[in-house]
Amino acid sequence: MNRTFTSILIGSVALAGALLPPAAQADERKQLAFETIDRNAAEMAAISDSIFFFGEPGMQEVESTKLLKGTLEAAGFRVELGGAGMPTNLWAEFGSGRPKIAIVTEIDALPSGSQTPLSFDHAPLVAGAPGHMEGHNTHGGVASAAAFAVKQAMQRFNIPGTVAISFGPAEEQIASRPFIVRAGYFKDVDAVIVLHIRETLSTGYGVQNYAAISSIFTFHGKTAHGAVNPWDGKDAVDAVELMDIGFDKLREHLRPTYRAHRTITVGGIQPNIIPDRGQIWWFVRDASMPAAKTTYDKLVKIAEGAALMTGTTYDVQYAASAWPQLASKTIAEAIQKNIDAVGMPKWTEEEQKFARDFQKSADRPVVGLRTAPAALGERQQSTSSNDNGDVTWVVPAGLLTFPSSVPGIEYHEWHAAVTPVSSISHKGQVAGAKVLAASIIDLMTSPELVAKARAEFEVESKRIPYFSLLPPDAKPPVDLNRTEMEKFRPDMRKFYLSNTPRFN
Ligand SMILES: [Zn+2]
Repeated sequence: MNRTFTSILIGSVALAGALLPPAAQADERKQLAFETIDRNAAEMAAISDSIFFFGEPGMQEVESTKLLKGTLEAAGFRVELGGAGMPTNLWAEFGSGRPKIAIVTEIDALPSGSQTPLSFDHAPLVAGAPGHMEGHNTHGGVASAAAFAVKQAMQRFNIPGTVAISFGPAEEQIASRPFIVRAGYFKDVDAVIVLHIRETLSTGYGVQNYAAISSIFTFHGKTAHGAVNPWDGKDAVDAVELMDIGFDKLREHLRPTYRAHRTITVGGIQPNIIPDRGQIWWFVRDASMPAAKTTYDKLVKIAEGAALMTGTTYDVQYAASAWPQLASKTIAEAIQKNIDAVGMPKWTEEEQKFARDFQKSADRPVVGLRTAPAALGERQQSTSSNDNGDVTWVVPAGLLTFPSSVPGIEYHEWHAAVTPVSSISHKGQVAGAKVLAASIIDLMTSPELVAKARAEFEVESKRIPYFSLLPPDAKPPVDLNRTEMEKFRPDMRKFYLSNTPRFN
């Protein structure tokens, strides 16, 4: 018997979507997928809830991927763990040959995101520990359940092809997808659907978020006594400061679409020692990768200037990068039809009240939960970044978000870790898995749809030909978050759910 995290909220996941609108009933393949998802709603919730309590940040998704591997293998999928040089990179697939349709998503938590579910007060389960304050835990359940439902339909109706899932590590550090793309995972994939939690069912098309380049600049100088012989020193932290000031002088001359932010990661030793080492970590973003790269190249020139002014040297280390997501209108239109057919979950009055109380306590607009999906075209380009953007420039991509969040509760703050294991989340996952499964079935059973998406992609993606930001010798940062996880895992272990989810 699986133990799903039982919230105080009443709401049966099994009933969500039990009454199907006529448009969905018309297609018995989708009908079978929907029945499979309803039947497995508790298993899906068990996966997502377990991953929540694992609370593993990027590259440390050890327990999360172990659970997913076990669940998916038991469900008949072939699972590869550790591809492209990353131990927590998981690729699962069922079937053979084309068409090959892949779900692209992530399951990592955030540093310092630990929070007691359903508490309106900041109450970490383990003080200082990582946790799911973006709800990526839900991606594990939704992607797995949807892929399983597609598999059931493929077997029952002899649908040829392959359904795959790519769980990429460390989305929060935009650290893995350029490596997964470089390793060739998407070479024989016909289309992908990029999956993310949100407050409503939605899709979109065009360029949907921002390009980002993350690099660490380290300056090397010479130590000397700050009072006795400072003239013998070369101050590496002066170089850091001058780089920061230099970029601020540049800001006026950049196009308004740019974003740039930094953290000084090495700022000296003690005041009476001229520091021989200084370090500053930059993120540069823009609406397109060439635009971000143009600003980045100027940033490197500023580092050169700062080194010249201070008599120091510098090196620059690539940290991460992400292309903006390029989403197919053709696939978006297909997804939207399934969104409109499945519809939003039927929230109980108790869930709506919970959401309103939560919004009130968090000082957000008191609007409750969304009851209608987003219309096609409603979604605008955001200034955030996701490294799955790289995937969308090498294969036609659709985007899908599902309603497992409370409106107004922004991610990357503890509030967002209050609801990922609630009945609100569970019901949103059911709706999301249904739309996802139905959209994959559309792509697998309609060669015209895949061909149209490909033709559109050949035009749209060629407007800005993809180039990888990865230096040729770049290796995945597999030690990301390792120290933190080693510190907190023993205390976090007490909260693990002893689940063995099995689809049926
Ligand atoms: Zn995310």
